[in-house]
Amino acid sequence: MAAARRLRRGQCDAMFAGSCRSVNLDRPLKSTLRRLCAALGSVIAPPQCVLCDQPGLAGPVDLCAECLAEFPRPAGDGPIAGGDFALVCCPWRFDFPVDALVRALKFHGERCYARLFGTLLARERARHGAPLPGLVVPVPLHPLRLRVRGYNQAAEIACYAARELALPLERNALRRLRPTREQSALRSRDRVANVAGAFAATRSLAGLRVALVDDVVTTGSTVNAAAAALSEAGAAAVELWVVARAARRPQASADTTQARTAP
Ligand SMILES: [Zn+2]
Repeated sequence: MAAARRLRRGQCDAMFAGSCRSVNLDRPLKSTLRRLCAALGSVIAPPQCVLCDQPGLAGPVDLCAECLAEFPRPAGDGPIAGGDFALVCCPWRFDFPVDALVRALKFHGERCYARLFGTLLARERARHGAPLPGLVVPVPLHPLRLRVRGYNQAAEIACYAARELALPLERNALRRLRPTREQSALRSRDRVANVAGAFAATRSLAGLRVALVDDVVTTGSTVNAAAAALSEAGAAAVELWVVARAARRPQASADTTQARTAP
């Protein structure tokens, strides 16, 4: 029943989003139409919590307030090593149920969770109060991995986050120059080398404040390398928006327990 509801909502989203994108309108009007479309979608298929089936939050978000309140918060892991971010928005810890939902999005095709995370991530960012960025950019997958998975989970999350805050999204502002090994399969000290120089911007980002979006961060090697590429392209500042932070664990357990996080 829940799956059918999500499918129905996904169809509604695709239908309405497609109709909005097909019309060449200025940004405020497009934003207003998207909100109207979302409101209409909420009437047709009201939001329902994916964890307990209670009514979801307005937006729409398929999560209820009680379940959201139980999402695990970061456990004071400190700043991301090597990161030079103007702002870090990472509201949750990679622990149950956040880890289960991220894995479902990433590995089991449950793309509906991207809207949940993207919308909530944007709302968390809005609470920071700092001026919003001028561009939202996801951490890209290499084309080979994108072909296998069929979608980039970071781009899916970024899409809904940008939509929630009415910010421009550029899915292809960054690209991966070469395939990299799964970060989660590597020791911490090998992760930096694995992604060093792996990203490049596809255009000048001179003077822009950019929000870099990813699903999970562990050592920060991937997002640091991606942020470096944004800075090299002229970005004036880079924010990091990431759903959850996975704790670094002793190497023996990290290689097994994080094997499926695959940043
Ligand atoms: Zn719930």
